[in-house]
Amino acid sequence: MSLQGKFFKLSNGNTIPAVGYGTGTKWFKSALGDIDTTLVDTLVQAIKLGFTHIDGAQIYKTSREIGLAIKKSGIKREDLFLTDKFFSGPSTLPKSTSPNPYDALKQSLAEFQLEYVDLYLLHTPYISKESHGYDVVEAWNYLEKLQDEGLVKNIGVSNFAVEDLQKILNSNPKHKPVVNQIEYSAYLQNQTPGVVEFAKKNGILIEAYGPSAPITKGKGGPLDPVLEKLAKKYNKTEAQIILRWVLDTGVLPVTTSSKEDRIKAFLELTEFKLDAEDVKEISEVGKEKIFRQFFTEYSRFD
Ligand code: NDP
Repeated sequence: MSLQGKFFKLSNGNTIPAVGYGTGTKWFKSALGDIDTTLVDTLVQAIKLGFTHIDGAQIYKTSREIGLAIKKSGIKREDLFLTDKFFSGPSTLPKSTSPNPYDALKQSLAEFQLEYVDLYLLHTPYISKESHGYDVVEAWNYLEKLQDEGLVKNIGVSNFAVEDLQKILNSNPKHKPVVNQIEYSAYLQNQTPGVVEFAKKNGILIEAYGPSAPITKGKGGPLDPVLEKLAKKYNKTEAQIILRWVLDTGVLPVTTSSKEDRIKAFLELTEFKLDAEDVKEISEVGKEKIFRQFFTEYSRFD
């Protein structure tokens, strides 16, 4: 769970590259449709520049692009860390067309043209007997089966609150979740009450999506002058400062960009560190504004 150079160590002893490259958000497709060649080319470039951690999900419909990029890049499979997710709802969004996470992963592997993924997540906790025919613990059991069969190396969850994590932990699982991927930025330091602290206490690495919020959609807040000052102090971009803050709080940032200079800048994140007093200042000033970008209409995240 701790950051060691360019990797975080997970509670099961495996490692995960410290910065993830996302293929959701700006790359998200509502239908499978044609191959997005811009995404393929950008991913090939990112891999060639040194990115080894790619974040995918069945609902992004980008698995074929990821698979093509991996092939084109020439990177060895074992040098790459790939995440996939089973989309379980909410029901107002298009749910997975697969009946369960086991079948969904098999479908993803066919689209990736790969034998395994490195991390497989339940994308949300919206799973119930009524809507799915199995509850969240039984959904977790599908992931355990996939791990036991070697089709996924690590398993975890996303957008889980404390009570959702407890359901899995209290079921005495064979494999515990090693990751909870949530929205996290200096302007949203807890997606749900107490989740970051609870995860850390239970050996679950928090992955942050939307980590750049203070300089993107959340710009125009109390951190503006702080980031400007720190960018000068460290001779880094404000984007690098705000993402390094994520790392310095023990959280793994999953970001993305279509631009080569920004991709290169992401790769430098493990090459410097913020002083403790600067981490504290960003944390304190960041708490003055709450800015949430995702799942805003779902009350469980209030
Ligand atoms: P970020 O908050 O890091 O935002 C990245 C976006 O910001 C890109 O579109 C990029 O565009 C832009 N950007 C980067 N640097 C700058 C800058 N200096 N100034 C202005 N804009 C900038 O991450 P995302 O919110 O995009 O999420 C990352 C990934 O997380 C997703 O792709 C997905 O894989 C995952 N995710 C997971 C979710 C879940 O439910 N589990 C939900 C949402 C996301 P540009 O191309 O112009 O650089």
